[in-house]
Amino acid sequence: MLAGTLITPRLAEEAIYSRLTCLPIESLPLTQCVGATLRENIYAERDQPPFDRVAMDGMAVDSEALLRGIKRFRIQGMQAAGTPQVKLADGDAAIEVMTGAILPLGCDCVIPIEQLEVAEGYSSLREDVPAVPYTNVDRRGNHSRQGALLLEAGTLLRAPEIAVAASAGMARVRVSSQPAIMIVSTGDELIEPGDPIAEFQVRRSNAYAVAATLRTRGFGRVGDDHVPDNEHLMLERLALHLTTHEVVVLSGGVSMGKFDLVPKVLQQLGVQQVFHKIEQRPGKPMWFGIGPQGQAVFGLPGNPVSTLVCLIRYVIPAIAEAMGTKRAQPERLALASPVTFQPALTYFLPVAIEHDDWGRPWANPRRTKGSGDFLSLTGTDGFVELPPGPNTYPKGFVTTVYRW
Ligand code: AMP
Ligand code: MG
Repeated sequence: MLAGTLITPRLAEEAIYSRLTCLPIESLPLTQCVGATLRENIYAERDQPPFDRVAMDGMAVDSEALLRGIKRFRIQGMQAAGTPQVKLADGDAAIEVMTGAILPLGCDCVIPIEQLEVAEGYSSLREDVPAVPYTNVDRRGNHSRQGALLLEAGTLLRAPEIAVAASAGMARVRVSSQPAIMIVSTGDELIEPGDPIAEFQVRRSNAYAVAATLRTRGFGRVGDDHVPDNEHLMLERLALHLTTHEVVVLSGGVSMGKFDLVPKVLQQLGVQQVFHKIEQRPGKPMWFGIGPQGQAVFGLPGNPVSTLVCLIRYVIPAIAEAMGTKRAQPERLALASPVTFQPALTYFLPVAIEHDDWGRPWANPRRTKGSGDFLSLTGTDGFVELPPGPNTYPKGFVTTVYRW
């Protein structure tokens, strides 16, 4: 990519994806896989349900007997869940059954307990029960067949998928290993919360926002460092972080100022620049490169709104891509009120998502007073991406939304 050439967000995203190295695979116990990306296909261990399964508590009978007009059945025995199949002795008998039990041999339907009366070892029908075979029986293989593909590699493992993997008998599954991510804030003006602060200094809030974003998305191997605007120190510390981390997320130091040393230092460390600057607001100075061992290095602009927007628009999807996660359908929403934005750049506009009386969600614009005004982000849900203007986007304009 040509140095100094501005690219669109779409091209930036593709440029990142095409250079990422896929993260390694590890085998983890199922309980540790929530939020992980599956890296193998999972097939059905057995038919599902694995047997004709009783779906109601009641009496199992042969529907032939109902056809013959029998209303009173001798209770022969019981079939509880988790017990081997019993056999119906004759057509006039019934077997008491529990939800989840295998349907007794010789029976083909279940009469719910509510439609019966039980007395002295007999069960009498309380009402007319249709003689329809397999009433209240979940038939073997009704949901899926043995060997069917249940979960594809690339699937994000949430509660339903974890349950499916468990049903397939998987005690451990192969998932993407979590990347080691290092957050590095840069800037001589930045002071840690809790430390004394002078008038000309600023709280180091970006690192907290970045860490919170990563943690919200389940990334656990996250480190945090602060590096002053000093070339020598920056070289030393970034060299170390590059040896121990697969992803480095820097904030600050990528603009045009004298102390914006990040691109220069990264290049000295053999991190190949893929692009510098994107046609967007906020976040125009964003930098991206690939380290000597394939490390993904993101130089996010330091202005707090830019940092957060770039992190969510580029870094988070890039990590998902490196984990082999299937790309999700982007979430799209309509603007709740018109927006005017003149520059011919992509505009990332913070929004609060609200529902109208019909339950429809709308993106309510919440403009900031510039990319340093992160106080305006409180109470917002994310931002929308508005394509390059000059333009007025009307109420109802539908576009992609990214959530914090
Ligand atoms: P820079 O991109 O380094 O030129 O920084 C742009 C602006 O963002 C400056 O006003 C910085 O003080 C501010 N800034 C940079 N890094 C952080 C941070 N970690 N937390 C809060 N503000 C920051
Ligand atoms: Mg700076």
